Amino acid sequence: MKKTIALVAHDNRKKDLLEWVKHNIEELKEFNIMATGTTGRLISAEIDGVTRLKSGPLGGDQQLGAQIADGNIDYMIFFWDPMTSQPHDVDVKALLRLTVLYNVPTACNRATADFIITSNLFNNTEYKPKVKDYSVYLNREI
Ligand code: PGA
Repeated sequence: MKKTIALVAHDNRKKDLLEWVKHNIEELKEFNIMATGTTGRLISAEIDGVTRLKSGPLGGDQQLGAQIADGNIDYMIFFWDPMTSQPHDVDVKALLRLTVLYNVPTACNRATADFIITSNLFNNTEYKPKVKDYSVYLNREI
């Protein structure tokens, strides 16, 4: 089964993400790609079959978070803008929190994205990141 990679970039970083996508286009063609709305529109010009969510500020980050919580995302490349505050900063924080919670390999800059895509594990369908056991949390006394 194909793995799924989520791609997201804030406006000031979209050019950088697009450049990374073009540079890695052959590897990325082996994957399902899911992206927030505007990022997805730009990437669709390079690669077919991109699943586009809503634009980030309109709920796309939260939709992506739900996909992560459902275990549908194998990697996330999220070039967020460190120089500009966003109207949906809380959604950005929530999305990044879920990638940590569900142990999704995540790159927020190009060097990390390069390390992920060149890893031997990148297209290894046997490898499943271990998710911490939260059963104690679920069964806690209230
Ligand atoms: P966009 O959203 O791809 O619709 O611009 C990105 C984001 O801010 O999460």
